[in-house]
Amino acid sequence: MAGTLTLALTKGRILAETLPLLARAGIEPAEDIDSSRKLVFDSNRPGLRLLVLRGTDVPTYVRHGAADLGVVGKDMLLEQGAEGLYEPLDLGIARCRLMTAAPTGWRPTGSRVRVATKFVNVARRHFAARGVQADIIKLYGAMELAPTMGLSDLIVDIVDSGNTLRANGLEPLEEIATVSSRLVVNKASLRAAHEPITRLLADIEAALPADGLAA
Ligand code: AMP
Repeated sequence: MAGTLTLALTKGRILAETLPLLARAGIEPAEDIDSSRKLVFDSNRPGLRLLVLRGTDVPTYVRHGAADLGVVGKDMLLEQGAEGLYEPLDLGIARCRLMTAAPTGWRPTGSRVRVATKFVNVARRHFAARGVQADIIKLYGAMELAPTMGLSDLIVDIVDSGNTLRANGLEPLEEIATVSSRLVVNKASLRAAHEPITRLLADIEAALPADGLAA
């Protein structure tokens, strides 16, 4: 839609922390996102609509210009690469860590490890940088089940409190990256709609807590 900016939001935990931040920036969806089955929402800000997507799809929408901006976890950007995207703002929300984890007390025995993860590129880079031969097994969810069932030795997953790992008999090993949600912008959109996008970025940046830590 000419003159309309589209901001793609990541559903779930990130959305729950994004909506209060947008509200502080004066941006509210025209209807309650949680109680609606719609995926596209008008907002109270003229010329801005909101999409609600899975995090894995947000960089794709923004990269192809189907959305002008997006809110997405750094984990997705590390996994998918940031080609075609600017990453001007760290929103400081949905903080967590990308970590390796293994069954409590696990020690490597051979020269290879089997690693189950949905973050295959992150995992490949991590183990290659350490000179560890890793067989990477792609999963789409419930990574913490893989070692218990003998599918892998290790996992690479998101860790927040560590409760999910502990509940499944796993312990965190190495931190690969700290993660928070980022605002990303399509590079061509930024050129074509420079003024409204920079105004929107400034409004969102002004709504971030001064110490860089989201409430
Ligand atoms: P926890 O049990 O608190 O360590 O949370 C771990 C699980 O919650 C992970 O397996 C993720 O699926 C999910 N999770 C926690 N924090 C985030 C986040 N910031 N972004 C996406 N998923 C998260």
